[in-house]
Amino acid sequence: MYHLKAIIIGAGIGGLTTGIALKQAGYEIEIYDKVREFCPAGAGISLWSNGIKVLNQLGLGEEIAKIGGQMNRMEYRTHEDNLLNAIDLHSLIAQVGQRPYPVSRTDLQALLLQRVGEKNVTLNCKCVNVSQDKDGVTARFEDGRTTCGDVLIAADGIHSMIRPMVTGESSEPRYAGYVNWNGLVEAKAQAIDRECWVIYVGEGKRASLMPIGGDRFYFFFGCPLDKGTAVAREDRQQELANIFRGWASPVQRLIKTLNPLATNRLEIHDLNPLNTLVKGRIALLGDAGHATTPTLGQGGCQAMEDAAVLCRYLVTTNVSVEDALNRYELARKTRTSELVLKARKRTDTIYGKDMAVTQEWYDSLSQESEHDVIHALAKVILAGPFN
Ligand code: FAD
Repeated sequence: MYHLKAIIIGAGIGGLTTGIALKQAGYEIEIYDKVREFCPAGAGISLWSNGIKVLNQLGLGEEIAKIGGQMNRMEYRTHEDNLLNAIDLHSLIAQVGQRPYPVSRTDLQALLLQRVGEKNVTLNCKCVNVSQDKDGVTARFEDGRTTCGDVLIAADGIHSMIRPMVTGESSEPRYAGYVNWNGLVEAKAQAIDRECWVIYVGEGKRASLMPIGGDRFYFFFGCPLDKGTAVAREDRQQELANIFRGWASPVQRLIKTLNPLATNRLEIHDLNPLNTLVKGRIALLGDAGHATTPTLGQGGCQAMEDAAVLCRYLVTTNVSVEDALNRYELARKTRTSELVLKARKRTDTIYGKDMAVTQEWYDSLSQESEHDVIHALAKVILAGPFN
C-alpha cells in the first residue's frame, strides 16, 4: 500500500501536533527544524479546553493531565491587591466538557516529541526553499539536502520563510507595543492559592501567576514599552522591580524569588490576518498562518486545532491533496482571523493604548458576573472543531 508523505517544516507545538495526527492517520512524516537543540520560546503555556480536546483525540489526555496544573479558580486583582473578581472555573469545565491545563513548555514539548517519535524529527536543518508541481512538493535545505512528499506543512512560526511563497506577498509581524517577561517559580515560595490563576492589573500593565504541574507557577509580566529595548538577563529582576515598584506584596515576592537568568523577555508581535493559508500542496499552520498576541492564550491552541482539522480533511477527502487543503483553509481562516483581531483589541485595552479605555475596563472588571466571564471563555472554546 502506498503511504502519502507529509513534510513538516518546524517542530514547535504546531509541527509536532500535526506530525502526531498525520502519523496516526497512516502518513509517512518527516519533520525538520533549523534549531540545533530544542529550546522552547517561553516557560509555560495555558492550554485551554479546545487545545486539550485535540490532545485527547490524539490519545494524550492522560499524559497532559499529569503535567498540567489544577487551575480551579481565577482572580483579577488591582495592583494594590484589591479583589476585582473571583471566578470558579468548575462551571466552565462543565460547560465545555474539558478542564484546561496550564503546563511547562519543556514538559509539553517532551511529551509531543516522544509521541511523534524522535527519529521523525531532523534538527539543524533549515528549509530555504519549497517548490511544487502536479505530482508533489519538494523542500530544499541550507545544507543542500532535498526531500519530496505529497503535502508540505509550513509550521515555521511567526517569521515563516514559506509564508510569502504561499500568500504571494510579504507580511511582516506587527509589534503589539508591549514586552512580556515569563518564567517558572516554585509554588511554595509564593504563599498564594495554588489552584488559582491570579492576574494583577494597573497602570496599563499586568503581573500574573498561573499554576502548572510539578507544584510550580508559570508567571508573566507585561508592560507597554517602545520597540528595541533589550535588557541583559542578569538585569531583568531589577528591571521588573523598577517597572512594578509599589505593586502588591505577592508581586514583590514574585520578583524577589524569580531567577532572572531563566526569565524570558519578549517583544510581542502578531500578524495581520492573511487572505490565504494554502497554495496547492502547501499549507500554513500555527503561527506561520495566524500569529496572535497571547492575551487570549489561544495561539498554541489554534495551532493544535489547525493540526486536527488539516488531518481530518487530508484523511477524509479523496479528491486530491489540494482539495483537502482548500477545505482546511475554509474551515480555519475565519476562526483564526477573528481570534487574532480579538486578542489584538484585548491587548490594546490591557496595555493602555488609550488609558481611558483601560480605566473603563478596570472599572468593568469588578462589575462582571461569573456567568459573563465563563460565557466569554466558553464561547471561544466551543467555536473550535470539537465543541
Ligand atoms: P513555533 O513554536 O514558533 O515553531 C516554529 C518552529 O519552526 C521553530 O521551532 C523554528 O525553529 C522552526 N523554523 C522556523 N523557520 C524554519 C526554517 N526555515 N527551517 C526549519 N525550521 C524552521 N498560546 C496558547 O495557546 N496559550 C498560551 O498561554 C500562550 N501564551 C503565550 C505567551 C507568550 C509570551 C507567547 C509569545 C506566545 C504564547 N502563546 C500561547 C502562543 C504560542 O506560543 C504559539 O502560538 C505557538 O507556540 C506557535 O507554535 P508554532 O508551532 O506555530 O510555531
